[in-house]
Amino acid sequence: MGGGYHNGTYDDKKGMKYIFADRGRIGKALKGRFLYLFLDYDGTLAPIARTPGGAVTPKRTRGLLRRLSKLRNCKIAVVSGRKLSGVEKRIRLKNIVYAGNHGFEVRGPGLRFEGPVPPGYKKSFAEIKAKLRERFSRIDGVIVEDKSFSLGVHYRLAAGKDMPLVKKIFYSVTGAYEKKDIVTVKAGKMALEIRPPTSWDKGKVVLWLLEKQKALARDKKRKVLPVYIGDDTTDEDAFEVLKDTGLTIFVGRPRKTKAEFYLKDTEDVAKFLETVLNIQAEALRA
Ligand SMILES: [Mg+2]
Repeated sequence: MGGGYHNGTYDDKKGMKYIFADRGRIGKALKGRFLYLFLDYDGTLAPIARTPGGAVTPKRTRGLLRRLSKLRNCKIAVVSGRKLSGVEKRIRLKNIVYAGNHGFEVRGPGLRFEGPVPPGYKKSFAEIKAKLRERFSRIDGVIVEDKSFSLGVHYRLAAGKDMPLVKKIFYSVTGAYEKKDIVTVKAGKMALEIRPPTSWDKGKVVLWLLEKQKALARDKKRKVLPVYIGDDTTDEDAFEVLKDTGLTIFVGRPRKTKAEFYLKDTEDVAKFLETVLNIQAEALRA
């Protein structure tokens, strides 16, 4: 433990900077820019819940999103692994772009998009779902969630001793499909997932949304500053594509990540949203 994290400034082991360590830096980065905020949902806007259905957006965070979404110099996209409707109903604000299934489904003002899936995907998806549901019905605390484009297996509530078995079953069912390139498998926080094998991820959807924004922008000269905040491995694709052009912020204890900065937890994220809200609102008044 370098101790840096605990007094909240700098963790030299991982080379990450606490974004509030230098408040002037946030103001400088935002100066005169149109802010495009890309926000992961679970573990970033909302604390991780015991079950995927249990996650709730904190009132303060939702209020900040609402105020930010009304500013002329700011745009928000929530980019989640959840299915689109699941993200939308947890935030319920117009004027925000929602990207579900890691960007496979996008809906927002003037936007509607579905990512490509290969032929045979839907059929294999249904087979895998049936097999996993059958085999996991005998293990307590494993939830198989159909997210329409992807399938999540959540095992946060399973007994510790069952976890190796959960993984073994998962890979034995999905292995054959993965080998034939019909599905891709990803592991996240206490969750396993199958997705279309198409090369589409949070990084690609962020770049796609930034292009759309450029085309829509009335003031072409005003530069867009992309900011991405996320806490999980699937967010690394977005950190990677924005590392030279935006602010990339990891949420949680500093670890090996491509993000440049970190925030400690979801409350810290709210504090950051409030800071940028004040800066952008002030810029409009000036
Ligand atoms: Mg997350």
